[in-house]
Amino acid sequence: MSPLLELRPDGAPLRLDDLFLTPTAAVALLVSTAATAVCPRCGTASDRLHSRYRRTVADLPCQGRPLALRLVVRRFRCPQADCPQSIFCERLPGLLAPHARSTSRLAGAHCAIGFALGGEAGHRLAEHLAMPTSADTLLRRVKGSPDEPAPPPRYVGIDDWALRKGQRYGTIVIDLERGRVLDLLPGRDGEALKTWLKEHPGVEVITRDRWAAFAQAAAEAAPQARQVADRWHLLKNLREAVERLLARMSGAVHQALRANPAGGEGKPPEAPPSADAGTSTRPLPPAAASTGALPTRRPPSARQQEREAKQHRRVEQYEQVRKLRAEGRSLRAIAKATGVALKRVIRYVRRDRCPDWNPGRKSRTQLDAFTTQVDAWIGRGGRNAADLYRELVGQGCRACYDAVRRFVGRRLGSTGRPGPRVGPLIPPAAPAPPSARQLSFAFIRRAEDRTGEQRRQVERLQAGGAPLQEGLQLAASFAALVRKSGSGSLVDWLAKAEGAECAEMRSFAASLRQDEAAVAAALTEAWSNGPVEGHVNRLKLIKRSMYGRAGWKLLRARVRRAG
Ligand SMILES: [Zn+2]
Repeated sequence: MSPLLELRPDGAPLRLDDLFLTPTAAVALLVSTAATAVCPRCGTASDRLHSRYRRTVADLPCQGRPLALRLVVRRFRCPQADCPQSIFCERLPGLLAPHARSTSRLAGAHCAIGFALGGEAGHRLAEHLAMPTSADTLLRRVKGSPDEPAPPPRYVGIDDWALRKGQRYGTIVIDLERGRVLDLLPGRDGEALKTWLKEHPGVEVITRDRWAAFAQAAAEAAPQARQVADRWHLLKNLREAVERLLARMSGAVHQALRANPAGGEGKPPEAPPSADAGTSTRPLPPAAASTGALPTRRPPSARQQEREAKQHRRVEQYEQVRKLRAEGRSLRAIAKATGVALKRVIRYVRRDRCPDWNPGRKSRTQLDAFTTQVDAWIGRGGRNAADLYRELVGQGCRACYDAVRRFVGRRLGSTGRPGPRVGPLIPPAAPAPPSARQLSFAFIRRAEDRTGEQRRQVERLQAGGAPLQEGLQLAASFAALVRKSGSGSLVDWLAKAEGAECAEMRSFAASLRQDEAAVAAALTEAWSNGPVEGHVNRLKLIKRSMYGRAGWKLLRARVRRAG
C-alpha cells in the first residue's frame, strides 16, 4: 500500500492522479474528492462548490528525492447566510496546516532535527536527507513548538549559568526526580525564581549552590520547601579557604614541606629547598659541591634577559595593583586602570608577594623519568648525545634528539664534568614548590585518591606549625562531615571553627552560619545539586553548538527538550 493513500489521517479521500520522478525530485499530483467541506468560521458543512486552485507543498522524501505534492483543492460557499465567511477553502487537517508550505509530518521532522542540531548543522543534515530547508525555518519550528507537559515537580535543583560571562546570567531549574530541565529563567537575582516557585507550590526540596539570592528567593516564595546546599560547592568553598590559608602562611608551608615527615619513611624530601624571596639562594648541587668544581655562569642569553625583563614588569604590575588597592580602589577599577586581568588582580591582592615571581622554576620534561639511566650513562663515560638518544628510544623514551642533547648538557653541568657540546653551564634549578592552589587541591581530595606525592605533601603540611595545623585540622574534619565519613556534628564544628585562631576557617564558618539550615541538610539529605551541574554543561554545549548566538527563547526550547 502506498504511503500516499494514508495522507489524510481523518480518512477523507484524496485521489492520487500521478506520481513521477525527475532527476532531482519526486512529484505527486493529488486531487481532493470529499463531497463536502466544513466552514472554518461557523462549522457548517457545505457542498456548494465555488472554484478550484492549485497548491504545492513539500512532503517527506521519496526514493531519496524531495517529494512535492501538487494538490488541487477547492473553494466552497458557506450555506449560512449570516456567516461573515461567504467563501472558504477546504482544509486538509492532519496533512497540512492552513497556509503551510510543508506537510505537518515534514514540519515535525524538521522540528526534531532543529531540536537535535540547531539551525546550521540541522540545515546541512536536512539537505542530506532530501528534505531541504533553511536554518531559520528549523529554528522557527523549534521556537514555535509547544512546551512538553511535565508533571508537577517535587524535588528541584537550581543553579545559575552565564548567557554571556560577566554580563548576562540566567537560572536553570531541574527536576531532580526525573532528571529533566524544567525551565530557564532570566537573571540570577532570584526574582524570576520567586515567580516560578509561586507557580509550583508542590516543591518539597530545593537544592542550590550557595548563591544568597537563591536562598532568599526560595525562603520567600517556597517556605514549605527544605533547602539543601550543594555539597560540591561546600567543598569548593572549603578548598578556597584552605588555599587562602596556605597562601597567607606560605613561609610556614614551605618550611613544613622541606621538613621530614614525623615518623615518615625517612625519605628525603622530593621538593628541594626553593628560594622564598626574590633573591636566589640555591645551594649548589651535591655533586658539584663535593668535587669542588663550581659551574661557571655565563652571561645571560637574550632569551634569559627577555624573561627577566618580563618578570620585572610583573613585579611592577603587582606593586601597582597593591598600591591602588591600598588606596581603596575596587578590584574592577584596578583591573581597568592597570590593564591587568581581573583574576590576576584578585591573586595579587591576596598574596603578600608577587606570585608570578618564581625564580629558578624549571619545567618538567619527559626525560626526568630517565634521569638515573642518563646519569649512569654519563658515569660510564658516555658523552655522545646521539648514542644516548638511540639507547633511550630503545627504552621507549619519546623525547626528540634535541631534548636529549639539552638534557645531557644539563646533567653534565650538574656533575661538573665537561661535556662535548654542552649548553650554558647553569646548575639545574630546583623544581618549583607546589603552589598554594595545588596544595589545596591535594588537601581537599579524598585520602585514597591522592597520589603518592600528594600524600607526602599533605602529611608534611599536617605536621607543620601550630597555626597551620589548627586550620588544616578544621578543614579536614569539615571535609569528612561533607563526605559523611567523619564523626561529630555541624553544630560542634561551627562552634570550634568560630573560636579558632585561623582567620580563614573563622570566616568560612561565618559564611556557613548564614546558611546553616541548608548546610545541615546537605550533610544529611540524599538529594544533591550534582545533576544540575550536568545539565548546566549540557546547556553550555547547546549554547556553543549554536555559536553562542542563540537567543533566550531558542535556548530554552532546546534545553527543555529531553534528550
Ligand atoms: Zn460559515
